[in-house]
Amino acid sequence: MDFALTDKQKMIRNITREFSEKYIAPVAEKCDQESYLDPVVMEEMKRMKYFGTCIPKEYGGAGLQDDTISFCIITEEIGRIDASWSITTGVHASVCAYPIYKFGTEDQKERFLRDLATGEKIGAFCLTEANAGSDAGGVQTSAVKDGDEWILNGSKIFATNGGIAKTLLIVATTGMKGRRKELTVFIVDTDTPGYSVGVKEDKLGVRASNTSELVFEDVRLPEENILGGVGTGFRIGMQILDYGRILMAAQCVGLGQAALEASVKYANERVQFGKPIGMFQGVQWKIADMGVAVECARLLTYKAAYLCDQGMDYGVIGSMAKLKASEAAMQATHDAVQIHGAYGLMKAYAVERYFRDAKMAEIYEGTSEIQRMVIAQKLLRGRF
Ligand SMILES: Cc1cc2nc3c(=O)[nH]c(=O)nc-3n(C[C@H](O)[C@H](O)[C@H](O)COP(=O)(O)OP(=O)(O)OC[C@H]3O[C@@H](n4cnc5c(N)ncnc54)[C@H](O)[C@@H]3O)c2cc1C
Repeated sequence: MDFALTDKQKMIRNITREFSEKYIAPVAEKCDQESYLDPVVMEEMKRMKYFGTCIPKEYGGAGLQDDTISFCIITEEIGRIDASWSITTGVHASVCAYPIYKFGTEDQKERFLRDLATGEKIGAFCLTEANAGSDAGGVQTSAVKDGDEWILNGSKIFATNGGIAKTLLIVATTGMKGRRKELTVFIVDTDTPGYSVGVKEDKLGVRASNTSELVFEDVRLPEENILGGVGTGFRIGMQILDYGRILMAAQCVGLGQAALEASVKYANERVQFGKPIGMFQGVQWKIADMGVAVECARLLTYKAAYLCDQGMDYGVIGSMAKLKASEAAMQATHDAVQIHGAYGLMKAYAVERYFRDAKMAEIYEGTSEIQRMVIAQKLLRGRF
């Protein structure tokens, strides 16, 4: 068993850390407060191919489609500075671009992947609706066949990148399979008539990222825009989320790491009762617990990524990674605020933002309760 990163992975970590500190850090607080993605950072991100991480070079991507550990390292390093950016690039690449590469026809890859790989077009994955949160079976957005085309009607909510995306993966019902809804994934170009963006959400955390409602009114789609075949939507949708969870776990590792680093710095600097507060056992134990939680989360996340790259089943480990990492980030950011005292509640200190961002990760890409349900179901079937 080798826990060492390759030279290439170490280089990717160094480059992304340097990039994030240089470009993202200076504007992170402003973008959080004013709820927008900085356009200069966006252009630099495109230049660095952070939108095409897991797309093969032949489609203009960075060629890390078989190196999910590197994709995790990139997401972790961006998340260490600003979770809004890691969710933006992570969602774009992991649950929109990668599924087109994985399940798409050659024609779909040619038509959609190149612009996604360069970031020329931003991608989104849209499953959630007003009546379909944890339960994908509640999807009501429907697609009805009309000659060679499908007509899409309905609305999606809470779509990351929704308001800025040009390429969407939409999960819609296309009929019934016995007593269950038949689901199908459609690739939607947002230039298609009948498409519009609804409410942009004003959120607690990851505030700079775009979370929006999307509306579809008689949107006509060619048969060639179906991803993976009619009726495969539930299976594909779950596989898309399995992969996405590894990256959301990586983002939380970065967030937890940021909270730990900020706490160590503050605990060494802040003096009370004549010594740095890091000398007090009550503070030391918090730092120790943060370090353990973040490292456990990192190990599970890299293991899920490793299994994925080996072509092995990573579903349950991916869920464990997402659960552990989001809860580790929550614990670490909670303790980070505590260690900072009143200063930790002020906008002037980044731990205030980390704390709000971490809460979000316990909800999106499957809540902690749903992760526990998925993990328990697999374990109870004897799949260890
Ligand atoms: C910032 C952000 C970004 C998002 N991005 C996207 C995106 O890009 N695409 C997308 O499709 N969606 C996205 N979502 C939606 C997100 O995935 C859902 O919010 C999430 O799956 C939960 O659905 P819900 O909010 O409707 O909660 P509900 O499903 O209504 O759950 C409410 C509560 O009940 C619990 N619960 C539900 N069912 C069970 C059960 N069987 N057992 C135990 N407890 C249960 C839940 O854990 C939760 O605590 C995003 C959400 C946020 C906040």
